[in-house]
Amino acid sequence: MTRFILTPLLLSVLAACQAPTLLSQRPVDTSSLQRQSTGLRVAKPPVEVMTSPNFNERPEGAKISAIVLHHTAMAGDARETGRFFANPKAGASAHFTVDRTGYIVESVPEHLRSWHAGRSEFQGVGDVNNYSIGIEICNVGDGSEAYSDAQYETLIRLVSYLVKQYQIPLDRITRHRDVAVPAGRKIDTSNNFSVQRVLNGVKAVMAGTYQSPVQRPPQVLNIGDTREVVVQAGQTTFALLAEMHLDHETRAIEIAHLNPQVRDGFILPGTRVKIPTTYALFATLAR
Ligand SMILES: [Zn+2]
Repeated sequence: MTRFILTPLLLSVLAACQAPTLLSQRPVDTSSLQRQSTGLRVAKPPVEVMTSPNFNERPEGAKISAIVLHHTAMAGDARETGRFFANPKAGASAHFTVDRTGYIVESVPEHLRSWHAGRSEFQGVGDVNNYSIGIEICNVGDGSEAYSDAQYETLIRLVSYLVKQYQIPLDRITRHRDVAVPAGRKIDTSNNFSVQRVLNGVKAVMAGTYQSPVQRPPQVLNIGDTREVVVQAGQTTFALLAEMHLDHETRAIEIAHLNPQVRDGFILPGTRVKIPTTYALFATLAR
């Protein structure tokens, strides 16, 4: 089951930045963008919840006091990782997975103990899962794929939120490879991921001087790559197509945007329609 959490702050940010809506492509007010790109941004970023059964309670008295960064070592997106973690047979999870677009899937609530670090020790204390938040970053992990600006942007926002929320010292933001036992058991995050860039961003957020490297607001209409599908019986509305191909009926709005020639209501089986192969940051949220 998936559901969306839209924080009041995000709603106000979205309202304030006047991102173009799907129905009316208003020009973007750059003066409000400027306001959005500076200042303290420590609210929890929006997430899509894809609940994982792979968690347990944190031990009595365990305090969230570290963040462990991972790469997924997969080409798939955050939802694919979310689906993997949703399978009890996986026996693994992370609290969050950050997609290449900056989109976040939350698999385990922060207060619970997710299963991401395995045998581990950090600053002399074992079983890092007990007291950490695990964040997966979508990347193939062999050094061949750059981590995207949108990923860094989201990580900076997410880590800043966690640091503020749980008073986590910055030297307790670490990588799986640095805490795995025995040493060398894990290689994530890959060498081409810069923890320092995240730390610098978090420091700037805390200082109120953060400048987003992503100079534009989330592009609701920037849907990215598409593919063509043939409408089958039983998939004859945008909502049904979205449910079938994109996991969530709210994404019907993207399909509608891509297919202005097709009227929703009842789409004849056999009709060819375009659907997104990826999804843009906030595409399903900024409605
Ligand atoms: Zn890992």
